Formats: sequence, C-alpha cells, structure tokens
Amino acid sequence: MSLARDALRVTVLGSGTAVPSAERFPAGHLLQDGDSTLCVDLGPGVLRRLAACGLDLDAVDAVLLTHFHTDHCADVAALLFGLRSPRYAGREPLHLFGAPGLRTLIANLTQAWPWLAPRDYELHLHEIGPGSHDVLGLRVDAFAIEHTKESLGYRVHGGGGAIAAFSGDAVLCDNLVPLARDSDLFVCDSAFPSAAPGPGHMTPSEAGRVAARAGCRILLLTHFYPECDGHDLLAEARREFDGDVRMAQDLLSFRLHPAKPGRS
Ligand SMILES: [Zn+2]
Ligand SMILES: [Zn+2]
Repeated sequence: MSLARDALRVTVLGSGTAVPSAERFPAGHLLQDGDSTLCVDLGPGVLRRLAACGLDLDAVDAVLLTHFHTDHCADVAALLFGLRSPRYAGREPLHLFGAPGLRTLIANLTQAWPWLAPRDYELHLHEIGPGSHDVLGLRVDAFAIEHTKESLGYRVHGGGGAIAAFSGDAVLCDNLVPLARDSDLFVCDSAFPSAAPGPGHMTPSEAGRVAARAGCRILLLTHFYPECDGHDLLAEARREFDGDVRMAQDLLSFRLHPAKPGRS
C-alpha cells in the first residue's frame, strides 16, 4: 500500500448554532478529497466561510444534510439562488443528499422562492437512508441518529483511506459508536456542558465516552450553544477519552491521512 496517498481535508465552516454568535457561524463542514468537494451541512451564512477558504460556489459538487433544522441547511437556499447566476451556466451537476423529506423541503422552498429552481445546470436530489452510498465516487456510510426522525450521521471514506465521521445533532445513541469506529476525525455534537444539558443534544462528556468506545483518533467537539461559555469543555471530554480532543472553531482545518490502513 502506497504511503503517498492523498489526504482528506476537512474544514469547519461553522461551529455554532441557531443562536447567533459573532465568532461562530451555524453548522457546516467542507470536505475536499482529490477533485471532489462536498459539504456536510450548510447552515445560514456558511457560504461566506467557503469564500474565506478561497472557494467559489461553483466548487461545491455535493451537499450532505444531517437533518433539516434550519441551522444546518438554510444556506442550501442561498446556494441554489447563487448558482442561478449566469456565471455558473453549464456547471457540473449539484448533488444534494439527505433523508426522505429532502425532496419535499426543496419543493417547498422552491414554491416560496421560485428563483431557487436550477437554471443551466442539473440539480440531483438523493433521498437516502442508513447504509453505504456513493457520493462523488467516495463511500459514505449513513447512520440513523436520534435527534429528529430525519437525522443521519455520515462516515466519509476518503479516497486515500482516511475516515471522517459527523454526528450531526444527536442525543447519546447506539449508532454513534459504529459511526465513529476507528475514524481519523470524529466531529461530534457537544452543544451543552454537563452542568447545563439541553434537550436533543450531547455534552462533551458524552462525546468523550463515544470517542473512547469507538477508538477514534481525533475528537472534535462542536455546535456550542451560549450555555457552553465559561465551561471547560475540553476537560469534560478528556475525563472520558484519553485521545486527541479539540474544540472546533470556524475555519479550523485538518489534513487527514489514514492512521489505520485497511479499515472498512
Ligand atoms: Zn438539530
Ligand atoms: Zn443544530
């Protein structure tokens, strides 16, 4: 097996939530692998973070939505509207992935805003369930996650073998462990500190417990509500997980090389 495999690059576009923050945009992640560029979630405003990464809208080939809460997908509307610009005429098809309900969401948005309908490019909507899927030639495993009935976590296999896993919003549930198993980066909902837990979300302690059971390499805590301010979230997670734990911040970027070749 060659040592010169390409890295999977993961960049945090937004580490915040539905509550506006001056430093943190709502949820969004950029994944770059070879010629493929995809986003996991597109919360409101994160297209600006793409621009900060030096990427034009045209660069986005696919978007995977973990669920349909607005802080994770509102910029899909901004993306569809922006792509109607004549400058993007004839671009490659755009692929949107999400749980059943995606078509209804896009249809309803387009009914409210007719100018979201694609012009001079193809829009492909993929309603998917748990299991393995081909996304731009990359394997993506989807897992049902407890948060909303449409919630999916994604385990993305880079072409070089690195694995990045995304819980989306979650409560502690069994599928988080296989989602994150042996992953090089596990991006996990840590929305509220243990001292002030919130409904529908995880704490850093819970994220740490999952990371320890899953044996992931880097645990990236994210999706911080204001209740997190003043709490040592890293210490909370590190009490449960003795691996590498980081706090997400917007535009934090990782180049992932597989630490454990030959995984599935
Ligand atoms: Zn949510
Ligand atoms: Zn959320």
